[in-house]
Amino acid sequence: AAEQAERPAPARRAARRSFDFSTLPAHKQMRMQRAAAEMMGIEPPFFRVQEGYAAQTCVIEGRELLNFSSYNYLGLNGHPHVRAAAKAAIDRYGVSVSASRVVAGERDLHRRLEQALARFLGVEDAAAFVSGHATNVTAIGTLLGPRDLALVDALAHNSIYEGARLSGATRITFPHNDFAWVDDFLTRRRGDFERVLIAVEGLYSMDGDAPDLPAFVEVKSRHDAWLMVDEAHALGVLGATGRGIAEAQGVDPASVEIWMGTLSKTLSSCGGYIAGSAALVDLLKATAPGFVYSVGLAAPLTAAALAALEVLEAEPERVARLQRNGARLLERARAAGLDTGLSQGFAVTPVIVGDSARAAILSDMVRRRGVNALPITFPAVPEKQARLRFFVSADHAPEQIDRAVEITAAALPEALARPLIAG
Ligand code: PMP
Repeated sequence: AAEQAERPAPARRAARRSFDFSTLPAHKQMRMQRAAAEMMGIEPPFFRVQEGYAAQTCVIEGRELLNFSSYNYLGLNGHPHVRAAAKAAIDRYGVSVSASRVVAGERDLHRRLEQALARFLGVEDAAAFVSGHATNVTAIGTLLGPRDLALVDALAHNSIYEGARLSGATRITFPHNDFAWVDDFLTRRRGDFERVLIAVEGLYSMDGDAPDLPAFVEVKSRHDAWLMVDEAHALGVLGATGRGIAEAQGVDPASVEIWMGTLSKTLSSCGGYIAGSAALVDLLKATAPGFVYSVGLAAPLTAAALAALEVLEAEPERVARLQRNGARLLERARAAGLDTGLSQGFAVTPVIVGDSARAAILSDMVRRRGVNALPITFPAVPEKQARLRFFVSADHAPEQIDRAVEITAAALPEALARPLIAG
């Protein structure tokens, strides 16, 4: 204290400023974005409170909107069996399992969910984690080390990049879906690394397209690499019975080393999983910090995911309905002249606008006209690729899809023409 008292006043002020989070460059950028939104006269699209259950419609500020912003792909978040299972689990186990599973948090529900997932996916075993994002971070962070290489698709999710960064492995981003690039790179450089992980998604979350999985399997086999497929948006979406890209493209699930998925989309819960060989699952459950040092998945969330998986298995017609709806949205959007980028018409279709500001304006305009479709802006996508992203649900009526496309197509030219500074 005596030392501090002797310090000259300007130094003390400088020291205090360094503790002020608002001086961080990221904070400044955030403030600039908010000021820009205000100048454009649009209400910020983020953190808007939705009232009640967000399904094919949602309620914001008392108004019912057509909802295309929730990844409740098969409508299972509202399914009576799923809700009842979550409530029953609370009555039986309480809300939290109150410890890491390694120590005192293990409940029979955890293994039931993991075994059901493994059986559904056609692999030996699965491990459930408390967050989808953390699943990628901790699994990749555990499996790779500094002598290894992570080859990550340019459009892969942030959590895959974060896991690769944590691992200390060399990280290379490859052009989207370009298995020939990966093949060429490994032909030249495979010898420089001990282990190699190639990471792709079953269905890309921002673009709605799928990779050529047989081609990636062929490349990884030839170069003795591991292949990881993030099925966050593919489970319950791709394949005749919703088993994902392996089913859709006729690939033996055992030919992919690491299947990753989330419990938060089709399975209407929260959390993630890794599925694959028993050795992989054993290893992660014993060593992945995000599993070992984190609380076990909450009882109602485990029960909800298990119940949702049961409904998915029992009612594959939901998958067919989702696929019809996805194809309809893409077809109508293209017919209306919208730029749907790479979308293949599954559950995710972007409408590419251009600048982040224009995407935010379009989202604001369509919301005022009754459609909830959120903008995806820089840095989540490149600045000139800002877009509205539409998530389709099995529960959307065809007319709701048509209406949403009509409203968006009508608003787009206005959003592009509107002066950026509100008058
Ligand atoms: N992987 C992908 C491809 C995702 O899109 C997401 C999130 N939407 C995650 C992982 C993380 O999952 P969660 O939101 O369940 O944490």
